[in-house]
Amino acid sequence: MPIASVNPATGETLETFEPLDADGVETRVARAATAFAAYRTTGFAERAALLRAAADLLEAERDDTARTMTLEMGKPVGQAAAEVDKCVKTMRWFAERGAALLADERIDTADTADAGAEAAVARYRPLGPVLAVMPWNFPLWQVVRFAAPALMAGNTALLKHASNVPRTALLLERLFARAGYPQGCFQTLLVASDAIEAVIRDPRVVAVTLTGSEAAGRSVAAIAADEVKKSVLELGGSDPFLVLPSADVARAAKVAVTARVQNNGQSCIAAKRFIVHEQVYEAFAAAFVEGMAALRVGDPLRQGTDVGPLSTESGRADLEELVDDALRRGAKAQCGGQRPAGLDAGWYYEPTVLTGITPEMRIHREECFGPVATLYRVASLAEAVQLANGTPFGLSSSAWTTDRAEQLVLERDLEAGGVFFNGMTASHPALPFGGVKRSGFGRELSGHGIREFCNVTTLWYG
Ligand code: NDP
Repeated sequence: MPIASVNPATGETLETFEPLDADGVETRVARAATAFAAYRTTGFAERAALLRAAADLLEAERDDTARTMTLEMGKPVGQAAAEVDKCVKTMRWFAERGAALLADERIDTADTADAGAEAAVARYRPLGPVLAVMPWNFPLWQVVRFAAPALMAGNTALLKHASNVPRTALLLERLFARAGYPQGCFQTLLVASDAIEAVIRDPRVVAVTLTGSEAAGRSVAAIAADEVKKSVLELGGSDPFLVLPSADVARAAKVAVTARVQNNGQSCIAAKRFIVHEQVYEAFAAAFVEGMAALRVGDPLRQGTDVGPLSTESGRADLEELVDDALRRGAKAQCGGQRPAGLDAGWYYEPTVLTGITPEMRIHREECFGPVATLYRVASLAEAVQLANGTPFGLSSSAWTTDRAEQLVLERDLEAGGVFFNGMTASHPALPFGGVKRSGFGRELSGHGIREFCNVTTLWYG
């Protein structure tokens, strides 16, 4: 795939970019290493000031940044602006909290006396230049979610962004440079994914984080393991959304629509499988289908659009294959199930609810990256849990019940990195984010995230 900014609402190529050659990559990796040698010695106050300066710039340029994202990946512009706001908030959060999250941990001397120590400390030191391989779906947020804590920890960053969001990738590099970060602290590598192996294997690059598909994650983590380097993977999800008899069904149905179609349905933590107890199934299904069918599909730059186009033509083709496979095998579309009429130029797809899903259907076990929901009816909590856990993924989950006994079962048994009760899964700087099973390993955000790329150093004083 060439590195190009293509408007998914029209199919028009806005700009193409020449990928970096090997010399260009070498220059940037060398800069990242040189920058790290000095940047690692800075204090938290200095790092926080730089991160706040980047946040201020981003806040001031909110609308232009949102438009850049919408033009190259198609999310409704209001959602793009909200993404900018969230990045600003997260940068300020890590600027404010970074020092405390990475404060020295004094080990109780009573515990170390038999080791002969008069004092012992665990210190979070930075690791070095970290490579971030990032996807197009939240082109600003995915990067900031990694970069804000990584830079606060004293690391330097190399970004390999998805090939269809080069403008956002370059915008980010300019943002950090204009905020005053020393040259080499944050750089974008405009390269195709086949150039990534050499970067991971470069001795100056110490770790890698990837958000994206399972295939990309497997490849990147295997290379990192071969080099004995740390990796963090945030891969796909097929999050369940459980609705049980004690739920506020009307509110659950309303939130379910947003949870499925946010970002045009292209979110790893979107609720994708709606698992509903038979006692409330009819009421939930009616409200949910009505809500999905009422969404306004169209130009993502127009205020009031709920769902824009899929980000790439191949992404829509993948989605169509999943839906068509299900329909062929007997699923029923309660709404949608095709391209919308009158929007032929862009890569649009109608918000869709499928029922009658069976295990032979691909959509039952694969991640569905678009505005398509699968709706299941179950007879018990145990059946709901079994279905919820019955995928290779384990990113997050949402469960609607006010029954504490049921919550206790779900807290214990749902195989996921998160369980959100009576609300939709959302990322937040203070909450750990990441999954289990094929959704990856490691955590982003919160204290857990900022410590992923640190050398936890034992200091022992005799
Ligand atoms: P990819 O995983 O292919 O892309 C994500 C990032 O990984 C991009 O920067 C991509 O670069 C890079 N990449 C891809 N393959 C490799 C590789 N072998 N080595 C190193 N880097 C690689 O996602 P797609 O865009 O192809 O989307 C496919 C599916 O992945 C989606 O339908 C969805 O199911 C899932 N996905 C999940 C996301 C999430 O948030 N968890 C985000 C995006 C996708 P390049 O663009 O140059 O190929």
